[in-house]
Amino acid sequence: EQPQRLSKVLASVGVASRRSCEELIFEGKVTVNGSICTSPQTRVDIAKDSIYVNGNRLSKKLPPKLYFALNKPKGYICSSADDSKSVISLFADFFKSWSKSNPGLPKPRLFTVGRLDVATTGLIIVTNDGDFAHRISHPSSGLTKEYIAAVEGRVSRRHLIAISEGTQVEGILCVPDSVELLSTQPDTSRPRLRIVVHEGRNHEVRELVKSAGLELYSLKRVRIGGFKLPSDLGLGKYVELKQADFKLLE
Ligand code: URA
Repeated sequence: EQPQRLSKVLASVGVASRRSCEELIFEGKVTVNGSICTSPQTRVDIAKDSIYVNGNRLSKKLPPKLYFALNKPKGYICSSADDSKSVISLFADFFKSWSKSNPGLPKPRLFTVGRLDVATTGLIIVTNDGDFAHRISHPSSGLTKEYIAAVEGRVSRRHLIAISEGTQVEGILCVPDSVELLSTQPDTSRPRLRIVVHEGRNHEVRELVKSAGLELYSLKRVRIGGFKLPSDLGLGKYVELKQADFKLLE
């Protein structure tokens, strides 16, 4: 095997996403052959070099790659931390059966691909494959994301035009791919908007709605690329991605 960049090696064995691996390296949490290494570009050979992350030796054996689609409930944050407020805590039963069938092996390190705000519900992909996470969350993937936003009050043409013209997020003009008012259903008094974006900036959809002068009531992501949130997947539940699903995420 050719030596590869340290950040890529860490991501490919499931330490975290590529970006988080770079942060670990910058923070001095990674040693290579006994010395702290703060450059993610350093070339390493996983078979020969001795690599430690947070004092734990990196296993040379590749863990199985895991991919899930989760229907995120409100109130959970997208972090890889193992506390009760993280979406990863929703995988407790998966970890239980993993430990049963893989005694002695370390638990896989699951993390989310990108993030949803704490109050946002719906589709988020969870994996231990940092390269995959990097590929599909990078803007160059061109994957669009579809959200359903319920808002207070009434939606006029003026609001729709304002949303479609975009808004500044983190200093960058974000223009949605489309915005559409859904027909009101008898059981929901609030108007709902279908908003499709591709940028994926922090709070992008919230900012779009707010900048048009509307008050957001709830936000749910229902699609990434060609992959739709399965309609029978309950809040807090997940399914493993199948082979055919990966085509939909290219
Ligand atoms: N845009 C938002 O504003 N929030 C999300 O959670 C996702 C996209």
